[in-house]
Amino acid sequence: MRLVIIGGGILGTAHAWAAIARGHEVVQLEREREARGATVRNFGLVWVSGRAAGELALTLRSRELWEEIGGRVAGVGFRPAGSITLARTPAELAVAEAAAAGATATDRGFTLLEPDQVRALNPALRGKYLAGLHCSTDAAVESRQALPALRAHMAASGRYTFHEGTEARSVLDTGSGAVVVDDQGRRHEADLVVHCPGAAHSGLTRELAGELPVRRVRLQMMQTAPLDEPLTTAIADGDSFRYYPGFAGAEVDSLAAEQSQTATAAEHKMQLLCVQRLHGGLTIGDTHEYTEPFAFDVDEAPYEHLTEVTEELLGRKLPPVVRRWAGVYSQSVDPDALVTRVRADTNVWVVTGPGGRGMTLGPALGEQTADQLGL
Ligand SMILES: Cc1cc2nc3c(=O)[nH]c(=O)nc-3n(C[C@H](O)[C@H](O)[C@H](O)COP(=O)(O)OP(=O)(O)OC[C@H]3O[C@@H](n4cnc5c(N)ncnc54)[C@H](O)[C@@H]3O)c2cc1C
Repeated sequence: MRLVIIGGGILGTAHAWAAIARGHEVVQLEREREARGATVRNFGLVWVSGRAAGELALTLRSRELWEEIGGRVAGVGFRPAGSITLARTPAELAVAEAAAAGATATDRGFTLLEPDQVRALNPALRGKYLAGLHCSTDAAVESRQALPALRAHMAASGRYTFHEGTEARSVLDTGSGAVVVDDQGRRHEADLVVHCPGAAHSGLTRELAGELPVRRVRLQMMQTAPLDEPLTTAIADGDSFRYYPGFAGAEVDSLAAEQSQTATAAEHKMQLLCVQRLHGGLTIGDTHEYTEPFAFDVDEAPYEHLTEVTEELLGRKLPPVVRRWAGVYSQSVDPDALVTRVRADTNVWVVTGPGGRGMTLGPALGEQTADQLGL
């Protein structure tokens, strides 16, 4: 079959990857010169630890696919580094203890570590905390270099073409297939069209699928200059327990009731996630904003909070912050929907809304669509 895939982020690229792997021909269109949506703005965390139990099987499958892809495409920068979520209060420690004793702890690779065990695993963590929840299945990829690396690998099949700077403007279903017309008037014929627009819910997406059950979420991020030592695992703070459904339970309810979050963290719905890039810098975030219109500039207070918490955990000054940015992802409003997959016409599908787990789930979602469409 010949597929036209619209959107050059991880969902479009993972769908292209799955189709190429099954022997099909793919033409992929990206309206920018290089994808610049959520995929290149994220942490690159393949995050198993906090996923709800119902999502665990697909999450672990995706992690397995990332590892496989990383073994074939070095540019993806896959590393199975794991993560440590650091508890700084008794209420956070109670959540970590419950998680380490939970029914899915073995599948996730959870172990509760004393401070000296944390430091043995990740010597850069010389700061203040009561314990660490190690998750051995968490991993990371290099988001800003993964997409071109994946495309170069697919191009070697001779069955893949990428059109950069090409916006899809309309899709006409012909009954036996479909035609995508781009903004240069070119017509791309296909047996099947998969539109993966990310957070672009208006324009072509609305024309094809109407109002989807998705919302947009905006996050603030930053990156430091290289740290002069390795951060051997990704790290998270106890505020992350509040946001990941996998930790939900009486202990998180007590944590919420305790109101120990700082005013800035509460106002901006913050958690700390931090991962070291291959070049040594630290990618640190994040905030969550749900009400549109979103600000076009970034607020300074969350950055002060992130710096303070990271320095407390590392027990040292951070290298200077060299970049700050914001990103927007598309999230399905039904918390049980891992993604929103809508058949817009006989041969036209729209796939978006993986929320804050799209980088993690991308490969498995591409595989799932290919299975469902019988590719
Ligand atoms: C700050 C931030 C941090 C995150 N961290 C993580 C993380 O660590 N781990 C994780 O699992 N997830 C994370 N996420 C979520 C994850 O990044 C997203 O779920 C995922 O990248 C979505 O991929 P996508 O391909 O759907 O969208 P995008 O990456 O936004 O790509 C969509 C692409 O489609 C293109 N496009 C749209 N319309 C057209 C058109 N008509 N014609 C041509 N091209 C078009 C756009 O230009 C864009 O490049 C994070 C998100 C953000 C914002």
